[in-house]
Amino acid sequence: MLVKGVVFYLDSDLPTEAKFLLENFRLAVNNAIRAGLQARVTSRNALVKIAYKDFREQHPRMYAQHLVSAFEVACGILKNHRKRVRKGVTSRIPYVKRLLMKAENQAYKLDRKSGVIDLPIRAGCHIELRLIVSQYHRKYLDDMSLSLGSLTVLPDRVIVAFRKDAPKPYTPDSVISLDTNERSLDGVFVEGDVAKAVKAEFPDIAIIQQRHHDRRKRLQKKKAHDRRTSKNLCRREGTREHHRIDYRLHQVANSVLKFAEERRSAIVLEDLKGLKSKRSKELNRRLSMWPRRKLHQIIEYKAQWKGVPVIKVDPRNSSRTCPICGKTQYSRMGAEFKCECGWRLDRHINASINLLQTAISRGMAGGLRFNPGAFQHDVMMILYEPAMAARSEPNGTSGIAGVT
Ligand SMILES: [Zn+2]
Repeated sequence: MLVKGVVFYLDSDLPTEAKFLLENFRLAVNNAIRAGLQARVTSRNALVKIAYKDFREQHPRMYAQHLVSAFEVACGILKNHRKRVRKGVTSRIPYVKRLLMKAENQAYKLDRKSGVIDLPIRAGCHIELRLIVSQYHRKYLDDMSLSLGSLTVLPDRVIVAFRKDAPKPYTPDSVISLDTNERSLDGVFVEGDVAKAVKAEFPDIAIIQQRHHDRRKRLQKKKAHDRRTSKNLCRREGTREHHRIDYRLHQVANSVLKFAEERRSAIVLEDLKGLKSKRSKELNRRLSMWPRRKLHQIIEYKAQWKGVPVIKVDPRNSSRTCPICGKTQYSRMGAEFKCECGWRLDRHINASINLLQTAISRGMAGGLRFNPGAFQHDVMMILYEPAMAARSEPNGTSGIAGVT
């Protein structure tokens, strides 16, 4: 089952009753966390057993399903806490500060036509939440193959979970193989006997990382006498950086998927698991892996949602092997890959060809074939470039793809 959370803003302020509900919900979550820690239990049922009765007595009118849902949330938090403790990561006693509540799908009603949520607060008291519905939201509301999952209510917005069974991936007619680098995805698109270079460039992500890193360092220096302020400011910096990078990664992923969907391509990616660079700390940060891992996550998730097949391949030696004669070189320096046999190509694109050949040789690409000799050296298809990041829609959810 695939789940996608879609954010809706509210037409007006949250009614007072709902604010009370959020506060009570938070209280119930924090109570359950405390009780769970004390009794050393993390399962929802165990939490219900030890904490339900007391809370019920203190809040006799709270809708029972919301209370159970609060225990569910507490249970998730406790499990995370326990995982961190077990791993030896310092973890403070968890405590929910944010006002929020979660309702399972039986505990609220959403009129998908009008975008009005009916949320019970307690016996005999329901509230209506009017959602602001844009074209983007319509896509989810009107698609009846999507069922409704949980509802998360925050003071200024709600998140509705839409669910569907993962569609069966199509049988590909073509393949796009991508080598993931710090500033770009570089690859090859193969359809029949034709193979062309493709590229999705995102140099701004590394620039954003660098800029925010510098800013954090400056903040730390400036606020060295006040650790709390420094920490808060740095965290804010981090969140902002995260949002800006996330936004771009989604755009890149959207353009790759649009391209693949239109041509019914399978997508070949390198398996980044366990890949760590052994360079100095400074370089490690600059070449930090997380945007690349995140990009893969987004692509794989969106592909699953759309039924686009994704093939993950062990990237070992992919950047220093010749796809024609199979020779492996020692060095991986230089922008161009040159082999004794006469083969030369952009190093990243060469790597993507090796990824594709690995996928084919392991029988992972279905019946697709590829002959490196068919590669057209003079053609480059641009899937994405920074100019496309300019927001074309206010909610920033459009998938922009351009092919030249
Ligand atoms: Zn060679």
